[in-house]
This record gives sequence, C-alpha cells and structure tokens, in this order.
Amino acid sequence: MARKSQSSVEYDAVIIGSGPNGLGAANTLASEGWRVLVVESHETPGGGARSAELTLPGFVHDTCSAIHPMALASPLFQSLPLAEHGLEWIHPEILVAHPFDEGDIPAAAMLKSYEETAAGLGDDAAAYRRLFGPLVQNADALFGELLGPLPMPPKHPIALTQFGLRVLPSALAAARRYFCDEPARALFAGNAAHSVMPLDRPLATSAIGMMLMLAGHVHGWPFPKGGAGKITDALVGCLKRFGGEIVCGWRVKTLDELPKARAYLFDTAPSILADVAGDRLPEGYRRRLKRYRHGPGIFKIDYALSEAVPWASQACRRAGTVHVGGTLDEIVISEREAWNGIHAEKPFVLATQQSVFDETRAPEGKHTFWAYCHVPSGSTVDMTEAIENQIERFAPGFRDCILARHTMNCADFERYNPCLIGGDVVGGVADWRQLFTRPVARWNPYTTPANDIFIGSASTPPGGGVHGMAGYWAAQAVMSGHRPAGHA
Ligand SMILES: Cc1cc2nc3c(=O)[nH]c(=O)nc-3n(C[C@H](O)[C@H](O)[C@H](O)COP(=O)(O)OP(=O)(O)OC[C@H]3O[C@@H](n4cnc5c(N)ncnc54)[C@H](O)[C@@H]3O)c2cc1C
Repeated sequence: MARKSQSSVEYDAVIIGSGPNGLGAANTLASEGWRVLVVESHETPGGGARSAELTLPGFVHDTCSAIHPMALASPLFQSLPLAEHGLEWIHPEILVAHPFDEGDIPAAAMLKSYEETAAGLGDDAAAYRRLFGPLVQNADALFGELLGPLPMPPKHPIALTQFGLRVLPSALAAARRYFCDEPARALFAGNAAHSVMPLDRPLATSAIGMMLMLAGHVHGWPFPKGGAGKITDALVGCLKRFGGEIVCGWRVKTLDELPKARAYLFDTAPSILADVAGDRLPEGYRRRLKRYRHGPGIFKIDYALSEAVPWASQACRRAGTVHVGGTLDEIVISEREAWNGIHAEKPFVLATQQSVFDETRAPEGKHTFWAYCHVPSGSTVDMTEAIENQIERFAPGFRDCILARHTMNCADFERYNPCLIGGDVVGGVADWRQLFTRPVARWNPYTTPANDIFIGSASTPPGGGVHGMAGYWAAQAVMSGHRPAGHA
C-alpha cells in the first residue's frame, strides 16, 4: 500500500510496531471487527520473533527469540488459529540441560514432567516436588493472573498466594533455601538469570525463573518448526484473515504522519512513545516515560556448524536449551558483573540448538547454534572469545565445528530494533518497582493521559517474552473506551 493513499484512509486503530504484542493487539481488535493498520519500521514484521539466514545459505537462525514457553502459556495465542497458518511447535526431549565441569557432577536436566525432573535431582528431589507440585496443579489459574496487569483483586487468591510465598526471596536466597545440592541450585539460578538482574534482587528474580520453569512443566519449552519467524507468519496470517492490514518499512516519527484513527497503540519502548506522540501527551507523563529504566544488554552469536555441538554431557546433546555457566556462585557473579558495568570473564551463556530437533534449520548433517550472554547496557565489546571459552569448557572441540558465525552487540540490536534500548532484550528492568507499574504507575498501565493513545509492549505488564499478552490487554483498554467505526 502506498503511504500517500493511507493518509486519506481512516482506521479504527493504528498500531505502531509489529512485534508479538503489536500483532497480538491487532488480532484482538481485528477479531472484534475493528479496522486495523499495523505500521512497522523494519522491512519485515515480527520484532523479536523473526528468523533469517544470518550466516550461510540454508542455515535458518532466530535473530532474537528462540525458545517459546510463554507462547504456549499465552491465553491469546491459545485462542488464535495459529496452526491453521502454519505454526507447528517442536518439543525437545530435554527442555533445559545445565552442565558442570567434566568429572564433577552430571548435568542437571529439566524435563516437561516436574516429577521426572525431581527424580534426577538426587537429595533435592522431594524439595523440587514440594516447590512445583502445587503450582503445576494450579497453573492455568496462575498464568491467568501473572500474564497481565497486577490482579486487583486476584481471581485466584490461593494460587497466587502459593506462588507469591515461594518467590518472595531473591533467586540466590531461594536456591540456597530450597535446595541443598549444586544441580538443583544451579538449574534454578540459570532460569532466574533470564530476569537479567543480579540474582540477589528479591521477588522478581525468583518470580521470573519460577514462571519459566512452571511454563516448562505445564507446556514445555518448544520452538517453531522452521524458525521463530513462523510465529509472526501465523500472527500475520490470522490478522489478514480478520481483515487487518500491515505496512513495513515505515519508521513512524510523529503521529501526524499516520492515517486518522480512533486509537493509536504503541508496541514500542516508552521513550519511542514519548518521542512520537510529542506534545499530544502532557510533559510530566513524557518525563516519566523517559525515566523508564532499561537494564543490561546482550552479546549474541549465531553459528553455522559442521556437526552438532560436541557436549561432553549426553543430557546436553538431547536438550533444546543449554544453560552454560557452571555453579550457582558463578552465575551470580556473571549476572552481577553485567549489571555493574563489567564484562564477565566467564559469562553465563544461554544457548539453544534447534537444528538437533528441526531438520529444516540447516543443510543435511549440519547445524545451527544460538548463544548469548548479558553485557553492560550499550556495550560494543566483542564477547566471542569469552562465550566460546565457556562452551569449549563443556563441549571440547566446539571451535573445530564452526563453519561461520554472525555476531550482534548491544548497538547492533538497537539499530536492528529501536525498542532494544542499549541492547535490553526484555523491555526494561523487571524489578518489583517496575514489573507491574511499567511503563509508569497508572491504574490501567496500557492507557496514557491522551484518551486515544495506548501502549502495549514488553514495557507493559506482563513484560518481556513472546506471548502477545501485553498487546491483548492494551487492546482491551482501547475497546473499553471506544467502539469501532460502524458500531458507534
Ligand atoms: C536476542 C533476543 C533473544 C530473545 N530470546 C527470547 C526467547 O528465547 N524467548 C522469548 O519468549 N523471548 C525472547 N526475547 C524477548 C522477546 O523477543 C521480546 O520480549 C518480545 O519480542 C517483545 O515483543 P514486543 O511486541 O513488545 O516488542 P518487539 O518484538 O521489540 O517489537 C517492536 C516492534 O516495533 C517496531 N518499531 C519500533 N519503533 C517503531 C517506529 N517508530 N515505527 C514503526 N515501528 C517501530 C520495531 O521494529 C519492532 O518490530 C528475546 C529478545 C531478543 C532481542
């Protein structure tokens, strides 16, 4: 569609940004009969759910997100006919493996069944069952509460209390209090490190780690056959079926350039909302958006490999995700350093190996491999050697398998997607001060002081991850104040 002709077209809602939340919002509105236009700055839609041949022809890499536990837990994604639009989930045999130094202790393995996971954790088996058993029983109720704004009052107070009591201590304190041995402690810490915060921070570090583990025990840690971009293809397919439109290659700078609409919904970082909306928003609110805090960034490497990663541990060879960081104490140091502006010598590395389970990702017999570590915000330091030292530590001979690599530092990520401020991949610090009050404290965080401007992105509850639920809730906020054209 030519940009010029759009200015004369009126939409019920224009959505700025086509990440999972933008497309989630668009689908929610379009399925209710709203005329929706999505505008995306990149040449292709998808935000954090895209794939591309980043290294060599025939090697399909996930540019951002790789593993999608929250997508399966998402009530929005569950409600959309994504499978009809080609989305097929692959479930690796082992969800997460966590290796330790050779000759030391066997790798910890997180399986879909919490009981089988517990059985592999030796003396911590009973503690693991006690921790996750009640949560698994109430998981649906719990995800209903956690994947949205702060529930006031909660619909499922018992489930929420069970969860809340378990996650009150920091991940570091929780790992030490709940478990007595290294495998369970480190497994817990590796999951909590997805919070991108020092693990001695209370509440949120444990909450994020435990929510990811719970999602795994209920839904698995799957990935789409063919690449993360298949999630976007399916969301776009649904949107088009509902009559929605999407235009790519258009970086919105002001609201004035957009077609007239009843509502404008930002699937962006708060600072982008402040800049684009300009004086349509009061200065005080814009100042608060600009004060929104972003945490550490990441340095990521995508590999084309001549063979699968030669992990010393058999469990690692059978896992979709491998948490490469050694002991609890090592992970704590690595995450604290990234937060404090230091590049860790032995970084905690999050790694995924989809091609082991998905033959569409690489030419026959060859493999892809995705790995990143946390680094100080805005870093342009090359962490290739540090990351590869860590992988070699648990997979001797890894470097010999490398055919090609593609690296991205924090600045590359921010250029790739302007929402990744300083390389922050989770949409802003998710500590207790900002988890439910993102982007600013308001009764309804998806609204703004302007009654036609909304925000629904990873910088609103429930935060980062590919689930689309922030977009869903923002769309609800839009609909509660407006009616689509033709229904007025
Ligand atoms: C490297 C990396 C790895 C990750 N790994 C995982 C993972 O394994 N599992 C998981 O669940 N999550 C993962 N995430 C997080 C997940 O991708 C994000 O939380 C999620 O994509 C956020 O969705 P969103 O819709 O809020 O924003 P985004 O996906 O960031 O989408 C925002 C969109 O807005 C567009 N945009 C910005 N400004 C403008 C403008 N002015 N005009 C027009 N368009 C604009 C951007 O181009 C972008 O496409 C990862 C993220 C990264 C970067």
